[in-house]
Amino acid sequence: MSTLEIRDLHVSVETKEGAKQILRGVDLTVRSGETHAIMGPNGSGKSTLAYSLAGHPKYTVTGGTVTLDGEDVLALSVDERARAGLFLAMQYPVEVPGVSVSNFLRTAKTAIDGEAPPLRTWVKDVRSAMDNLRMDPAFAERSVNEGFSGGEKKRHEILQMELLKPKFAILDETDSGLDVDALRIVSEGVNRVKQNPDVGVLLITHYTRILRYITPDFVHVFVDGKVAEEGGPELADRLENEGYDRFLTSTTV
Ligand code: ADP
Ligand code: MG
Ligand code: MG
Repeated sequence: MSTLEIRDLHVSVETKEGAKQILRGVDLTVRSGETHAIMGPNGSGKSTLAYSLAGHPKYTVTGGTVTLDGEDVLALSVDERARAGLFLAMQYPVEVPGVSVSNFLRTAKTAIDGEAPPLRTWVKDVRSAMDNLRMDPAFAERSVNEGFSGGEKKRHEILQMELLKPKFAILDETDSGLDVDALRIVSEGVNRVKQNPDVGVLLITHYTRILRYITPDFVHVFVDGKVAEEGGPELADRLENEGYDRFLTSTTV
């Protein structure tokens, strides 16, 4: 049983005009076995939260804490965060020409576990995870992210999540490019992970439609850099019907 705890998190981002405060006191606790949805209007800081947890250098923590079972996540390097059990989908969004999906996954698994996975079980695990995602075995030999379609990127992301077996998976469903196919892939992957009581999921999304496929245990509405409202799955239904209008005030950036 693990706990990811975000307390009063403040984050600013470097822009050409100087530092801009984006997160203004985020409080959030995710435990193993729980699925949390973070929803909210565009520009409310959802991706900033994901990047901050990932340790992206452009985002500066100006206050607050993030701990994983009491360990200070913010003091860890990007690699150490992965080894501590955080999976952040956007951690490896770049193209890695010449590195196959298969090699990439094995290298990542080795780095996280501190030893190479036994080849026989590993090959079986990869095959079955790819099967689950209805991926062509030939995909494993392609270069990472090179020419991947939106759906292939999503499949690759979920494949990583399933094979790296993190304690917490943070999935930022960036608001563009999630077609119905990709939506189904993400949903099925999250629903498989949801069966595992050892994994907590933080699913960040603008659209409520993904929550027709995944039932989160908790929904948090993000507005202007912090959590404005929290509830159970019924809150997602309400957002689907009403949108975010009632959260938007003239002071919202
Ligand atoms: P969301 O994911 O909820 O749509 P973001 O976290 O992407 O919101 O953005 C929150 C705010 O921070 C927006 O106003 C956005 O323009 C700004 N922002 C985020 N990242 C950067 C950046 N790298 N440079 C400048 N502004 C940024
Ligand atoms: Mg975003
Ligand atoms: Mg804002």
